[in-house]
Amino acid sequence: MLLKRKEDLEIAAIKTPSYGDVSANQIEIPRDVPRAPEVSQSQNVSQSSPENIASRLFSAKESTRKIEEEEEYTPTSWLNEIFMESIRLGVSDIHITPEREYISVRFRVNGIVTEVARWDIGYHDMVISRIKVISGLKVVEKNTPQDGHLELALEIPKSDVPAGQTPPKSVNFRVSTMPTINGEAAVLRVLSREGAVISLAEVGLSDKALPVVKKMLQRGHGIILMTGHSGTGKTTTLYAALNEIDAKQKAILTLEDPVEYRVPGVRQSQVNSAVGYTFGAGLKAMLRQDPDVIMIGEIRDEETAGIAMRLALVGRLVLTTLHTSSISGALTRMIDMEIAKSIIASAFAGIVNERLVRKICPHCKQESVPPYELMKMFDIVWPENEKLYAGKGCEQCDNTGYQDRIGIFEVLEVNEEFRNIILSGMSLSVLEDYTRSHVVQTLREDGFDKVRKGITTLEEVIRATI
Ligand SMILES: [Zn+2]
Repeated sequence: MLLKRKEDLEIAAIKTPSYGDVSANQIEIPRDVPRAPEVSQSQNVSQSSPENIASRLFSAKESTRKIEEEEEYTPTSWLNEIFMESIRLGVSDIHITPEREYISVRFRVNGIVTEVARWDIGYHDMVISRIKVISGLKVVEKNTPQDGHLELALEIPKSDVPAGQTPPKSVNFRVSTMPTINGEAAVLRVLSREGAVISLAEVGLSDKALPVVKKMLQRGHGIILMTGHSGTGKTTTLYAALNEIDAKQKAILTLEDPVEYRVPGVRQSQVNSAVGYTFGAGLKAMLRQDPDVIMIGEIRDEETAGIAMRLALVGRLVLTTLHTSSISGALTRMIDMEIAKSIIASAFAGIVNERLVRKICPHCKQESVPPYELMKMFDIVWPENEKLYAGKGCEQCDNTGYQDRIGIFEVLEVNEEFRNIILSGMSLSVLEDYTRSHVVQTLREDGFDKVRKGITTLEEVIRATI
């Protein structure tokens, strides 16, 4: 697999103050500085299986080795290898953190952070400078946090692509740097891949919830809101929903911060508050672009909420997300944002609340005993005749017993009865009671269904829903 920056030519012209020319392929290392270790001993990455890479990576954390002979090892090549490994392993975030003695490289996989490499602290400036250069950040500015973006074009040999799968063409990272007491730390969030938007069935919507969501998406107007904590998959679900709408028949516009997936046939726009292109300004401009469907990355403030509601009331279908943990919480947040109840009641078409649970590793899945203590603690009774499964732990899942994640959902379609409840000035407890009894399934019901099917464990569902 080859990684190429699309803007390689421009980058070659950028200079850094401390290390001379920074080209796309190399950063010069001063001769008197000891060489830092690579994350692996092999350069032959493209022929390695993901499992081998994982084991090499995880063994690399044992010690901070120094490699003296191999001239080709540079911060650029270490970073390239880290990018490749992160894509192969399905990493969501790469953390590059300076400690006192070394640079710690950690991957977040399936929600869990693991250290995968340690580099010599003497290379800290070079590593951070390289990240800043390729992400469009200011190299000399070391004392304030910065946000940037990095797009890597991918060329994956056919032999590396599993049968029946479409390889991603590019990968986007959102890059954030922050000064710490040991120097600047960087976090690169993998914003997924071009052409890799998954379907609503694949995100985990059940046979009961899927038709309800599809029906909501057929509407010509109203707001469909995705809720959940940070990192619970609501953005992925939002794109899956967008993908469900026929872009040939309808004008679809998005306003995002940042654009996380690219969807063919959709006009996607990225806000840039540094130049005054805010969500508010973007939404006003959108109205003149003749949209049928509008996707807003996230409702963060009253202005965005207000405009989104008005768009929904004048015949647009609006898809968006809100950072809340429940359906009733989303509605009370809207009221706190001083949106009139009459507008909330008429604008909402449906609300989808989501959590992510880890899936049992298919390579080491076996029957398991119920987690009695946990079940007692949370008052859960599991029928004796229904089998439970769990991963025993194997090389493929790094002995965690889990591989990959799937969403569990509760879906509420807003109907006349619910509109009246909102209008009547409901209390939170009334809203909670109503949603609990009117959602397609509660998060736990959907989760327990997935436990019954052997997709996930009872422990995961309890953890995600407490
Ligand atoms: Zn396993």
